Amino acid sequence: MKSPLNLTEPLKGLAFPEVCQVCGETWAGAVDGFACRTCRSNIFKSTPPWCEQCGLPFEGAAGDAVTCKNCHEADWQFESARSMMSARGLVREVIHRYKYNRHEFFEPLMIQWLFGCGRLFLENSQCVVPVPLHPLKERDRGFNQAERLAKGVAEHLNLPMESRWLRRVKFTETQTNLSRKERMSNMRNAFEASERMTFSRVLLVDDVMTTGATASACAAALRRAGVQTVNVLTLARGMPV
Ligand SMILES: [Zn+2]
Ligand SMILES: [Zn+2]
Repeated sequence: MKSPLNLTEPLKGLAFPEVCQVCGETWAGAVDGFACRTCRSNIFKSTPPWCEQCGLPFEGAAGDAVTCKNCHEADWQFESARSMMSARGLVREVIHRYKYNRHEFFEPLMIQWLFGCGRLFLENSQCVVPVPLHPLKERDRGFNQAERLAKGVAEHLNLPMESRWLRRVKFTETQTNLSRKERMSNMRNAFEASERMTFSRVLLVDDVMTTGATASACAAALRRAGVQTVNVLTLARGMPV
C-alpha cells in the first residue's frame, strides 16, 4: 500500500496560495489538502456499530442487530456498502465544491479520506469500477468525480480501475426529492455492463451514497454481465429523505 502522502506530490509544484480554502484564514498547503487542521476536524467518520449490509451507522452497542430495517425491505444487488463519513460538515462542502465549482485542489484530500477504508475491501476486490455518469451529464460537468476517486483508490489498493465496462444508459434528473422506492424504479435498467468484464469481484466507488438505489442498479448490471460480488465504497453517506 502506498503512503497517502504520495498523493500530494502532483500538487506540490502548483502555484496555489497556501491558505485554507475552507475558512480562508489559516495556513494550509498541498500536504494538508488545502484545508487547515480546524476545518479538517469538521468531519463525521462512520464508525461501528453499523448495518452489516448497507453500512448505515446506528445507535446501540456493537453486536446488536446486524442488518437495518432498510435492508430487510430492499433487495440489494451489492454484497455490502461502506461510506467513510456521513455527508455533513466539511466533506459535504468539499464534494459540492469539487463537483459543481471544479475545485480540484480538494481531490487529494478526498482520496486520502477514502484511504481510511484500509484493508476493508482489499481481499474482496479484483478491480475498482466507478459509478458512471450519463455521457450528457459528464459532458456538462467536464469530468466524472466517481472516476477520479476510483482511480485514487485503485492506485492505493494496487488494483486495476475499469471505467469502460459499465455505462449509464438512462438519463435521470436529480433524485433528491424521491423516496427510496421511487429511486429504485427510476434507476431500473439505468446501467449496462459489458460481458467482456472478466473480474468476478468488483469494488464499486462513488462520492455519495444516499438510498443505495444507484449502487444497487450498478451492481445489478455488473451481475447480469457475470460479476459475482459487488462491494460499494463511497466517501460520504447521505440520509434518505
Ligand atoms: Zn480552515
Ligand atoms: Zn442497512
